[in-house]
Formats: sequence, structure tokens, C-alpha cells
Amino acid sequence: MSAVIEVEYEQPQDRPGPACETKHAWARVPPEPSPDERQALKARIRRLLKERNAVMVSHYYVHPDLQDLAEETGGLVSDSLEMARFGRDHAAQTLVVSGVRFMGETSKILSPEKTVLMPDLDATCSLDLGCPADAFAAFCDQHPDRTVVVYANTSAAVKARADWLVTSSCALDVVGALKAQGHKILWAPDRHLGSYIQRETGADMVFWNGACIVHDEFKGFELEALKREHPNAKVLVHPESPAEVVAMADAVGSTSGILKAAREMDAREFIVATDNGLMHHLRLQNPGKTFHEAPTAGNSATCKSCAHCPWMAMNGLADVARVLETVANTIQVDAAVIERARLPIDRMLDFTAGLKRGLAPGSLVPHFGAA
Ligand code: SF4
Repeated sequence: MSAVIEVEYEQPQDRPGPACETKHAWARVPPEPSPDERQALKARIRRLLKERNAVMVSHYYVHPDLQDLAEETGGLVSDSLEMARFGRDHAAQTLVVSGVRFMGETSKILSPEKTVLMPDLDATCSLDLGCPADAFAAFCDQHPDRTVVVYANTSAAVKARADWLVTSSCALDVVGALKAQGHKILWAPDRHLGSYIQRETGADMVFWNGACIVHDEFKGFELEALKREHPNAKVLVHPESPAEVVAMADAVGSTSGILKAAREMDAREFIVATDNGLMHHLRLQNPGKTFHEAPTAGNSATCKSCAHCPWMAMNGLADVARVLETVANTIQVDAAVIERARLPIDRMLDFTAGLKRGLAPGSLVPHFGAA
């Protein structure tokens, strides 16, 4: 049995708070600094990081400047799972999270004693926007017999309602292990990732109907045409993409999974269906290999994303320097929400740490009833 619940991803304009349509996000993308400005900003940020006992944690989809600087200053560039783990374990008292808001909130939940700064607090995510906590709680109330599994791309309040948190790098293992123990799943919010997991595991799942505006734009028909142009290219696909695009993949994986496949596959040419911010690390790690962006154009294209997340694009060097100087843009999460939201996050971190130690997924799922 499966069911979906329909929501719009756009934040209704009559709600209080910042406007979050993509056109507003695109309008706030910072201008490219000149070479001199870039150098000066980087020097300022290096100094401030030391003065504030701070470390940079950047997502693979943000501007290459923020990826490079994080690595050059002892921080991290990674996916949301490793960003959260790194921030929790690092000795720095201040975390500068370049990414989108749920990533800052997850860092705050895992490190409530630390100051978490973000370059722009309005950098959000269509999955988070499309899954309001009150509507999600009502959906959960309709399915009290199901174990609630939510994707990392959700607000702290939605996480606080979950039994398990997953990222795209561990979702298959977690749901597979829960299914083996007889759990029926309530999944939110990404419908494409949820249905991919259902196809792979055969789990009994009901779905929230959210989507990532970037991955939702990849087009199967146009991808076929690009494959004909590059017959030797292997296709790497993030599972937030539509099923017809996933079906054409030579490898399906999270950002880390795509990077690993590109390093290890016996091919010199790839077509990649994920945010084009990942191209920076794909090319850095694979000199001599060629990477093409999977197509987002076509008859049904909407130009909401053009293969790059407008909210990720809102992160820039000038704002990193500004928030380090002024300690503006601190992430705040209610203490009661932190306490409840930490449970599903800790379960995920314990689960993935156990997998790394070679333990069987089934041994890593605690026996508990559905919420
Ligand atoms: S790329 Fe998609 S999933 Fe990631 S933050 Fe942007 S809208 Fe959300």
C-alpha cells in the first residue's frame, strides 16, 4: 500500500517570514568578487576563523570559493551527513555552515553549546519548505502504526517528529534494516528518493509528496539524446531525480556516492545528474576525466534551478566574512525541539558508524515500536 500527500513547495506569500520563491533567491545570489576582492575576503576570513576559534563546514553544492577555503583552513567539504558529524566532533567553538538552513539546524541540534553561523539564513530548500511541521504532524497522526523516517532536508521541528533521520547515503540501508524487522514506513519528504527506496527494498511505505527543485528538473528524454552524443559516458544519478532518469543510471548515489563512483568506475567520461556544484570536486578528484551536466532543458523545463540550487548559490565569501565579524545569523533552535530531534539524528549517526565498523545493518536497528 502506498499513499502520497500533496503540498506546494513554495512558501505561501501570506505567511510571516522571508519570501522564498526561487526568483527571490536568485536575486540575492552574491556577485562574483574580482580577483583582488576574492583574495582580500579570503585573508579576512582566515584571520577571523582564528580569532573566533571557528571552523568552516561547506556543502558540495556551494560556490567553489567556499569549498576551497573550508579545505584550506582545516574545515570540511562534504554531504549533509558528514557535515553534521564533523561539526559535532570538532573542537572549534563556532561553526560556519555554508549550505542551506536545515544543515545549520542539524549542526545546532548536535552541538547546542556551539555558535552556529550561516552566511544567509534565508537559504532554504524546497523539500524543507514543502513539509511544514504542523501538516506533517497531522499526516503522522493518520498513520500511527508506521515508523517515521525523514530525510535530512527537513526542519528541526519535522525531525523532532521522526523515529529515524536518513541522508541519501544511508537511506537504503536504514529502510532495508527496518523492513527486515517488520516495520511499515512513513517517508518524508522527497517522493523520488522515497519511491527509489521502495523499489530497491520492497518496503511498505507511504509518502509525503515533496521534491527537490534541482533534481526534479532532470529530463529522461533529453538524457537519452545526450547519451547518444556520448556513447562511452557512464551516467551518475542522485536518487532525488525522477524515476525515468534513475532508470538510465550506471550508478545511483548520494553526493559522496557519485564522487566514489566517478573515482572507481572504469570510464573516462561521465554524465552527472545532480547539482552542478558537485562538478568542482568531481573535476578536482579526477583530472583527465570528462564530466557533462545531465540536461534540465526540454519541453517541460521550468528554469527554476538550471541544475544549480538557488538557495545554495546564496552563500558567498562576503557574507561569511560579515557573519564572522558581527556574529550575525546565528542559528537558534528551541531546547525542547533539540532534545527530541536529537534522537533520530543520533540513531542515524550510530547506525552509519556501525556500518563503517563492518556490522550488519540488521544489528544496528534498535527494537522499538512506531511513534
Ligand atoms: S539542491 Fe534540492 S535538496 Fe539540495 S538544498 Fe537545494 S532544493 Fe534542497
